[in-house]
Amino acid sequence: MRPIQMVDLKQQYTKIKSEVDSAIQEVIDNAAFINGKAVTELANALSLYTGSKHVIPCANGTDALQIAMMALDLQPGDEVITPSFTFIATTEVVALLKLRPVFVEVDPRTFCLDPAAIEAAITPRTRAIIPVHLYGQSAPMQEIMDIARRHNLSVIEDNAQAIGSHYRFPDGTVKKTGSIGHIGCTSFFPSKNLGCYGDGGAIFTDDDALANRLKMIANHGQSRRYYHDLVGCNSRLDSIQAAVLNVKLKRLDEYIAARRAAADHYDQAFGAHPKIKTPHRASYSHHVFHQYTLVLEGVDRNGLNEFLAGRNIPSMIYYPVPAHRQQMFAGFGGADYHLETTDWLTERVISLPMHTELDDEQLHAISDAVLEYLNRT
Ligand SMILES: *Cc1c(COP(=O)(O)O)cnc(C)c1O
Repeated sequence: MRPIQMVDLKQQYTKIKSEVDSAIQEVIDNAAFINGKAVTELANALSLYTGSKHVIPCANGTDALQIAMMALDLQPGDEVITPSFTFIATTEVVALLKLRPVFVEVDPRTFCLDPAAIEAAITPRTRAIIPVHLYGQSAPMQEIMDIARRHNLSVIEDNAQAIGSHYRFPDGTVKKTGSIGHIGCTSFFPSKNLGCYGDGGAIFTDDDALANRLKMIANHGQSRRYYHDLVGCNSRLDSIQAAVLNVKLKRLDEYIAARRAAADHYDQAFGAHPKIKTPHRASYSHHVFHQYTLVLEGVDRNGLNEFLAGRNIPSMIYYPVPAHRQQMFAGFGGADYHLETTDWLTERVISLPMHTELDDEQLHAISDAVLEYLNRT
C-alpha cells in the first residue's frame, strides 16, 4: 500500500507533471515573473469558473482578507463579526488592522456561522461579517446576506477552504462560494483544494469600484505607475504560481469529485456508529471536503490519534485552540467570551486524511483502523 498522508501532493503532481513543467518553463522562458500572462489568464479563468465579475490575484489568502478589509475603509474600533472556530488568519487580520473581532458561535452540525448568533452580536459599531466556509461547506448565505442587508453591513467570505463549492438559495439560484458576499477571498496554499506550489491567493467581487480599490491596494495603492492614491501593500501572485494554477483549475471539478468519493467511503464506514458524527451535508451546499472532520462522542481522541499513528495513518485536529482562546486576543477580551459550542467542538473534532489521491486500499485501511479502535474501547 502507498503511504497514507493527510494530503498527497506528490502523487497528484506525477499525473500532471509534463503539463505543469512546461507551463513553468514557459514563464521562465518569457521572464515575466510578476503579473505575467499566466496571471491574467488565471484571473479570467477564475472569473468564468466562479461567476465573479472581478478576480484580483494576490500573494496569499491572509493578504486577500486584509486587502478586502482595507478596501472597505473600516475605521479603528469598528466591529467585525467572525467565527472563533476557524483558522487564525480569518481573525488575525481584523486585529492587525486595529478593528475589533467579535467572535460568534457556529452551528455544531455545519461548523459554520450561526445566523442567530450573528444577529445577537450586532451593535451600532458593527461594520462587517466574515463567514468562513469551513472544511469546504458553504455557510448559510441567504440568512447572512439578509442580516447584512438589514443592518447595512459588508460581507467578506473566507472561501480559503471551499473554492468550487456552491450555495443554493431558497429560490433555486445557485452561486459559487466566494461570489456571494460583497468580497470573497481564497487561498492557493499548496494543501488547499486549488493549491499552487508556494503561496498564493485571490480576491473576488462583482463591484467595479471595490475591484478598483482592491487592485490598487494590492499594488502599493497605485492608480498608475508611481502614483499612489491609497495606502496599500505589495501582494501580487507570481506568474509561476499562476501557471501551476492554470493547469490545476482545469481539473478542480475532477479533484472535488475525488474528495467527495473519499468522503462517501468514510460516510458509509462510520455513518451507523453511535460514537461518531460524520460531516453533515447541508441541503443548500455542495460540500467540497477540504477536510473530512468527524465529531467524536465518548471517545479518547488522543488515544485514537496515537492508535492511528501506530498504523502510519495521520490524523489532525483542526483546530486545537479556537481564536477567542488564543493569547493573541487576550487584549481583545477573548477570555471573556463564552462560546460553548465552539469549545465543545474543539474538544471533539478529528480530521482524517483527505485528498485527491486516496485509493480504496488506503480508505479501507483508514476506516478499518478507526472502527477497530472505537470497538475496542
Ligand atoms: C488557509 C486559510 C487562510 C489563509 O490562507 P493563506 O494563503 O495560508 O494565507 C485563511 N482562512 C482559512 C479558513 C484558511 O483555511
